[in-house]
Amino acid sequence: MSSNSLSNYYGILEGEVRARYLKTREDRVDVDLKSDEGSLWRAHESALVRPRKRTEETSLMDLKVELGRRMLDNCRLCERRCGAKRSSMETGHCGVLEAMVSREFLHMGEEPDLVPSYTIFFSGCTFNCVFCQNWDISTKPDSGTTISARTLAKMIESKSGRTDRGAGSGSPLRLARNVNWVGGDPTSNLPYILEVLRECRANLPQVWNSNMYLTEEAMRLLDGIIDVYLTDFKYGNDECALRLSNAPNYMRIIERNHITARAQAEMIIRHLVLPGHIECCTRPVLSWIAENLHDVKVNVMAQYHPEHRASNYEEISKPLRLTEYRKALEIAEQLGLDA
Ligand code: SF4
Repeated sequence: MSSNSLSNYYGILEGEVRARYLKTREDRVDVDLKSDEGSLWRAHESALVRPRKRTEETSLMDLKVELGRRMLDNCRLCERRCGAKRSSMETGHCGVLEAMVSREFLHMGEEPDLVPSYTIFFSGCTFNCVFCQNWDISTKPDSGTTISARTLAKMIESKSGRTDRGAGSGSPLRLARNVNWVGGDPTSNLPYILEVLRECRANLPQVWNSNMYLTEEAMRLLDGIIDVYLTDFKYGNDECALRLSNAPNYMRIIERNHITARAQAEMIIRHLVLPGHIECCTRPVLSWIAENLHDVKVNVMAQYHPEHRASNYEEISKPLRLTEYRKALEIAEQLGLDA
């Protein structure tokens, strides 16, 4: 993959551009955070277009944090829209209450543009993929450890050589090129992530590494926060998504969110090639990308191996064949994708 379509990302790494969330911390809004939710959303939309000057006390980030908290009163962070009262300790479909960090480390196995990537894995997921490659954390939403927002912000800053407080002191060999929010899926933990970034001053690109099953409201909260969407576009039809990930209305939601994400930020799309799913999934996914997001980088992934409950589904009960992966690459090439 070439780096042409990640110019803003590289601008941040070169110190020419600031990570978007830093500006959101500085932009001001003219609203009382105790207002009703409708008023808060109106103030949010207006601030995204025309932020106030520094005379106002409340920042756009404060407003996003407050809206994130309100969404936990009646959870609608993902398109399951459970309505769980998570702020009153009621769990929804994903089972996530507090943000539990399963592990965090400098990941060297992501795309070449991204490594080393300070990757923060949350427990729990909004999907139930029968072949989940991270099932040990995605199916255990209460495993892991709680880390205060301030502590995690400091941990992020310690991985960066670039903060608003001046140069970092870490060895260049240990420095991260970005913060990579993942799971499971990070969506259930969006309010916590906003709290962390309100405390943080590292000039590091923020990467949203997700299945993209967010609601439109959650996508609005990510606007002004995320620099690179690292998305997972698995299926080319609703039937496969329902059967293998228990994800209703997959195509409408995932296509909508990809268009929204590209309008907000830069993007890399991952497509994990599943055995026996070339014509029903790989071809339509890659064709849709070529038609709608032709300038976006695509990572056609061959890493599939049968995990979790995959043995119960015949076509995915075995590893991907080399011939199938070659076919996927051939389709990407024929479509002229940046793969
Ligand atoms: S994030 Fe979890 S609780 Fe919230 S709507 Fe989605 S599945 Fe339900």
